[in-house]
Amino acid sequence: MQRLFQPIGDLKSVSKKRNALYQKMGIHTPYELLWHLPRLYQDYREPVPVAETVIGMSATIKVKITNKKNPVYTRSGMEIFQAEAVDDANTKINITIFNQRFTFQGLSVGNDYILSGKIKEDTYHENCRMIQNPKILSDEKNPLEAVYPQTAGLTSPMIRTNIKECLGLLDAVNFETLSLELRDQYQIVSLTKAFHDVHQPETMEQVVAAKHRLAFEEQLRLELGLHMLKMQSRVKTDYPMQDISIKPFLDSLPFQLTNAQLQAITEITQDLSGDMPMNRLLQGDVGSGKTAVAIAACYFCVQNGYQSVLMAPTEILAEQHYKTFCDFLGKFEIEIVLLTGSLTPKQKKLRYAKIADGSAKVIIGTHAVFQKAVTYCNLGLVITDEQHRFGVAQRDSLAEKGGMPHKLVMSATPIPRTLGLVIYGDLEISVLDAMPNGRLPVKTYAITGKIRDRAMNFVKQELQKGHQAYIVCPAIEDSAAELKAVTAYAELCKKDFLKDWKIAILHGQMSAQEKDTVMGQFRNHETDVLICTTVVEVGVDVPNATIMVIEDADRFGLSQLHQLRGRVGRSDHQSYCVLVTEHVTEESRERLRLLCSTTDGFAIAEADLQLRKAGDFFGNKQHGLPPMRLAGLIDSEMLDEIRQVRETITEQDQYLEHPENQALQISVTQLFC
Ligand code: ADP
Ligand code: MG
Repeated sequence: MQRLFQPIGDLKSVSKKRNALYQKMGIHTPYELLWHLPRLYQDYREPVPVAETVIGMSATIKVKITNKKNPVYTRSGMEIFQAEAVDDANTKINITIFNQRFTFQGLSVGNDYILSGKIKEDTYHENCRMIQNPKILSDEKNPLEAVYPQTAGLTSPMIRTNIKECLGLLDAVNFETLSLELRDQYQIVSLTKAFHDVHQPETMEQVVAAKHRLAFEEQLRLELGLHMLKMQSRVKTDYPMQDISIKPFLDSLPFQLTNAQLQAITEITQDLSGDMPMNRLLQGDVGSGKTAVAIAACYFCVQNGYQSVLMAPTEILAEQHYKTFCDFLGKFEIEIVLLTGSLTPKQKKLRYAKIADGSAKVIIGTHAVFQKAVTYCNLGLVITDEQHRFGVAQRDSLAEKGGMPHKLVMSATPIPRTLGLVIYGDLEISVLDAMPNGRLPVKTYAITGKIRDRAMNFVKQELQKGHQAYIVCPAIEDSAAELKAVTAYAELCKKDFLKDWKIAILHGQMSAQEKDTVMGQFRNHETDVLICTTVVEVGVDVPNATIMVIEDADRFGLSQLHQLRGRVGRSDHQSYCVLVTEHVTEESRERLRLLCSTTDGFAIAEADLQLRKAGDFFGNKQHGLPPMRLAGLIDSEMLDEIRQVRETITEQDQYLEHPENQALQISVTQLFC
């Protein structure tokens, strides 16, 4: 079995040069090469009439050989073989073969052949085409040919040759991870058949069945891997806590917590006072009040004598959390420090010292909280806000700071189950499924730029009521252009429709300090309108803002729009969101319509996911997990099946140590090396 996991360079058909290319592609073993799946299949079953072939392009034709000529020899010693043929419509074509005597001998006058090759103009015979060095295919043998994703230097024919050798190895060792019984029960084909059929199919039906099995395999392997990780992490916590009362904290709050918040807090304090390290996701739509839950968790942790950390994805957000935490925890004489990248060296030194000697109890910051220079005294709890902005790697380097602190992850992006599993592994979930009392759903409208004036009047009405407004400018990635777009828009507003109001601007090109000042002023209602880019997207909380205008809304993803919209509707006043678009396609209209019709973040996330590739969902591929090649094929029913199989297996063999699970164990172990 090990032969499937030997270095790929040991294969006979893999040269040194090719080996280097495979290494570059991240393919190190024959088994990994088998997982390099075709991008598409060239279908040789449907030859085209000769008259319809295009000169200069490859084509597949079906012809009868009518005449074979004697070979011609050139001075340089080349042999040229020629034959004449006609297709069903009696269109003539000449066949020219250089040097390949055996190919030529394989053609018999009077027989039909399917030929595939480049079509050229026959310069010696007018109005006649020529096919040069064609491949001779027969109907039955290999009607579908796998085409692989191209990488510099590795063509599909090369990959096909190497895969052929891997398939031979696979047959020899008969690698199979699932018992016949399980395969029958879930109606999936054997692994051997799946790999054969995906690389060398005879029909597309075979490809479908093969991909089903491989999707199953991939997900099962991941589930088992995560299960093993969980088993490993089932160590006793280094930070035991007492289940002390948090009533003083609850009584001090300016509002009554929702039942969902109370429930989440109970779940968290139970975890924290249990034997194992907590690993919990707090999922709640924008505005559901996750921060208050986080503060309660920190309060609990601090009362137990430990430090806690809250990590936010942006400085604006870290700053905002810092203020909120100070407001809510100030009266308990809990020292809170803020760590961001823009501190002076002197400030940093002072704060690092407080963190190291334990006088700082709650540490809030951006990724600055896990820089090498930061040493914690007794870090017991790590909270990450708006988790999808971080990669797994970052999170773990933070976790390494202490032994194994308790972890709480907060996210507003409702994560579809499949993806949640991939990103977070086996973690418990608390859901805030209710909004604080008195919240009204944000009313959303999609309009075209033609009636922007009306939208602006609407903005003015809200401002007159004493509320505030956001205007989000077009999504421009170029930094200079971003600045220009925001400033130009602000100039226009100052001159024209919003001239009586105090306007501030906020964009990614400003320094952290500038951003901070602007946000502070907006929060204190020293300014009325904030013209900004998507820097306000995540977490910003100014409850008095009741209207948001989003320009060029069709350029944003649905989830992003939902996040943006979540900046309003944070009080008991009715809030509004106006989506402005200039050029709408039917598709973008459809998307915006969905947003107008629902404020259910889950429905929006699902729709967004369908519109984009799963990988893009979390920004770039930063989660550090194995590629899920076939994740798109997995639906919830299949996921249930996979879970059942996983349970069946681990119930009998927790660590996959039984002989019948050997293949499975090898496969799962490969995940982590
Ligand atoms: P998110 O879940 O999006 O992070 P926040 O924690 O920022 O939401 O909370 C949104 C707003 O609602 C904040 O202004 C917060 O103070 C307020 N809030 C939180 N919980 C409640 C509650 N139970 N009742 C009233 N207001 C609340
Ligand atoms: Mg938040």
